[in-house]
Amino acid sequence: FNVPKPQNEPVLNYAPGSAERASLEAALNEARAVVADIPMYIGAQEVRTGKTLELRPPHDHQHLLARFHEGDASHVTAAIDAALAAKADWEDLAWEQRAAIFLKAADLISGPYRAKINAATMLGQSKNAYQAEIDAACEFADFLRFNVEYMTEIYSQQPPVSPKGIWNRVEQRPLEGFVFALTPFNFTAIAGNLPASAAMMGNVVVWKPAYPQIFAANVIMQIFIEAGLPAGVVNLIYVDGPVAGEVIFNHPDFAGIHFTGSTGVFQNIWQTIGANIHKYKTYPRIVGETGGKDFVLAHPSANAEVVSTALVRGAFEYQGQKCSAASRAYIPASLWPAVKENVQRDLASIKVGPVEDFSNFVNAVITEVSFDKLAKYIDAAKADENVELIAGGGHDKSNGWFIEPTVIRVNDPHYVTMCEELFGPVLTVYVYEDDKFEETMDILDKTSIYALTGSIIAQDRYAIARATQRLRNAAGNFYINDKPTGAVVGQQPFGGARGSGTNDKAGSMINLLRWVSPRTIKETF
Ligand code: NAD
Repeated sequence: FNVPKPQNEPVLNYAPGSAERASLEAALNEARAVVADIPMYIGAQEVRTGKTLELRPPHDHQHLLARFHEGDASHVTAAIDAALAAKADWEDLAWEQRAAIFLKAADLISGPYRAKINAATMLGQSKNAYQAEIDAACEFADFLRFNVEYMTEIYSQQPPVSPKGIWNRVEQRPLEGFVFALTPFNFTAIAGNLPASAAMMGNVVVWKPAYPQIFAANVIMQIFIEAGLPAGVVNLIYVDGPVAGEVIFNHPDFAGIHFTGSTGVFQNIWQTIGANIHKYKTYPRIVGETGGKDFVLAHPSANAEVVSTALVRGAFEYQGQKCSAASRAYIPASLWPAVKENVQRDLASIKVGPVEDFSNFVNAVITEVSFDKLAKYIDAAKADENVELIAGGGHDKSNGWFIEPTVIRVNDPHYVTMCEELFGPVLTVYVYEDDKFEETMDILDKTSIYALTGSIIAQDRYAIARATQRLRNAAGNFYINDKPTGAVVGQQPFGGARGSGTNDKAGSMINLLRWVSPRTIKETF
């Protein structure tokens, strides 16, 4: 079988007066007009526990968007049971039948559900229209279509050599047990892709999203169901993380975790799995994409406009809440006056506010916990005489969790915000002497535990070559003369090492191979 050759979903621009703008505005109005009642999905059941929690847009405390039904340990067990009950039929289904479901889901996302899933992402996660479009509509559809292509390649691999009288073959089996998909708040595409990629390879899944992402997760589940995903293959539960973990990581049929989220949570999970290893029937697959402290390194030969654009877009799109967001910059002294002026100019023109006004570039950060953490770091920087405030610095939580895009300049390259992941609209700049490019790379490489993304900006080819070589292990996605965000499925496979993850490259054959367990069969005639 050949599947359709995937192509990246074209990004719509939502210009005023466009048809897509009208349909997105209608979807936003529709979503705001009712208070949604969101169930869990376990087997064929929509489960309403009666214990509800509220969802409000991070940019609008006054508005009640939805109530979702929270479950407890018994629902985790029920979800595992439903998954295991669905397993035999699902893994026996020919892979092209599974492929058809996910290709149909991609068409639903990019077609009839496009406005709905974008509106849900905008309201639930406080993403502006363009950022929602590249995530919920395009990246999500791309993940499904490209993964189906990689899946085809896996199932079509050349068999091993078979001498005369012998037939050797390799069968790609689904994992023995169930997969746990544990997903973050910041990307609808990731939330949908983690359960989908494991399920595509014939696995059954228990999926727990981050609570602030549930409004869009509900739409994802509706799409999977409409695309024909059989009941029990993906079970969507809303249970407190540690409560879910307690049941899942003690279960003998736990066969793998597909995680994206913070480094600390992943390390705890890994430790728990290690401590329980004797309880499982098989060694679980552990796949996790985690935090980042992503850098922009400018060389004295760089163009100042390219540097400032990379900084402003890289650091402040989606409020800096991308794992790949530029959050530390190393700028040569000769370039700094021009870069500083450009950054201040660009940030002065950026509007901060709710997503319903499409001209707002920066919206709210995700939760009060996140807001308070960011405000604390910003206030400490403002009070520090060794730190210069270059732009922003304001924060206001009266109507929503709004943090002004903030740039600070530090004298110490090991200042706390150069090292720790803040996950918000805060960029820290260290200015180095022009002749200290090499030493600066040494510092950069050792400053943080992460190695997710990074950029070198330079016109000098020797500098580009040197940085590419010297910073080989500092980023899993390395950019030359661009911002360190915006990886596109099928073009730049995404993931980092060190504290940033197992680097199984989301949206790639490497990732899909983690969800199968090959069996070699030798037949003698
Ligand atoms: P998070 O770690 O707080 O949560 C991730 C998931 O784990 C959520 O579903 C959460 O409810 C659950 N969880 C939290 N504590 C748990 C526990 N003790 N036991 C079991 N489950 C638990 O992450 P987040 O705030 O949702 O997402 C932001 C983080 O994700 C950032 O660190 C960011 O860098 C990272 N991220 C990484 C990538 C990547 O590709 N490397 C992509 C997106 C986000």
